[in-house]
Amino acid sequence: MSEAARIDGKAFAEALRARIGAAAAAFLQAAARKPGLAVVLVGEDAASQVYVGAKAKACEEAGIASFEHRLPATTSAAELLTLVERLNRDPEVDGILVQLPLPQGLDEQAVIAAIDPDKDVDGFHVINAGRLAVGQEGFVPCTPLGCLMLLQDRIGDLSGLEAVVIGRSNIVGKPMAQLLTDANATVTIAHSRTKNLPEVVRRADIVVAAVGRPEMVRGDWIKPGATVIDVGINRLPPEEGKAKGRLVGDVAYAEALEVAGAITPVPGGVGPMTIAVLLRNTLVAAHRHAGLDAPEGI
Ligand code: NDP
Repeated sequence: MSEAARIDGKAFAEALRARIGAAAAAFLQAAARKPGLAVVLVGEDAASQVYVGAKAKACEEAGIASFEHRLPATTSAAELLTLVERLNRDPEVDGILVQLPLPQGLDEQAVIAAIDPDKDVDGFHVINAGRLAVGQEGFVPCTPLGCLMLLQDRIGDLSGLEAVVIGRSNIVGKPMAQLLTDANATVTIAHSRTKNLPEVVRRADIVVAAVGRPEMVRGDWIKPGATVIDVGINRLPPEEGKAKGRLVGDVAYAEALEVAGAITPVPGGVGPMTIAVLLRNTLVAAHRHAGLDAPEGI
């Protein structure tokens, strides 16, 4: 059997960002302002600083105004909630993102709950989780929506396909399963208590791995020809003489490549989609706030 096709999330995300850029320019003409995303970072977490910087740069490139709020780790819950309230009322701000994790002592759920659900472009608010569950228009978390886009681009209609999602987190696994169900796939959610996981995965035409365990899904778990979406981002311990370890996904890539029909690499698969979909959600929020129809094909 020939080697699996490589699903190029980087190229797909670049094309999506270009379409968002064009739509943001049209929005500027129609609404006399740019779509706006406020990003709130509390504390000095190194990875979070990198993510927030990348989000601001991506906004700028797409013609979306980015409002960065960097607060010290000593910020109180009351101060943070006051800022969120202010951003909720700010007409220039269409999307609000509070970078997680928050420093100890700050209640993440309380902060997410304070965000106006119609500005919750991360899709983490319980109102948006509920909207997704009952099929109402809202915001869907960026990573699973990006995975769905890659799947539909690769496969087209997902109707009737067997999908196994490994992982049941609120930000990836659960919304991924909802999206696949809405797309008429037959969905199984697997997790740490699932029995005979390799057998369960072997049934799947579509495998989405969102576990956080390096190369857990082996090649012989994959049904020949299946489409594999690897959400995991895991850094291995550094090899001798290297400062940093390699990044790997939750799927043993080289093994899966021999069996699958198509697979996302790590890095360069799902990762680039997350920021692109954040921009997409912000653009959609801006159209809703301005009473304009959201652009098609985004
Ligand atoms: P969580 O830790 O919140 O959830 C992990 C899930 O995996 C849980 O549901 C857990 O089950 C399940 N699990 C753990 N061990 C096993 C096992 N041995 N067998 C089967 N299931 C298992 O992680 P996230 O959903 O937040 O993230 C998952 C991965 O995706 C991480 O590597 C993360 O870095 C990456 N990620 C990547 C993003 C991107 O942009 N590409 C964005 C977000 C996450 P249980 O519920 O029973 O504990």
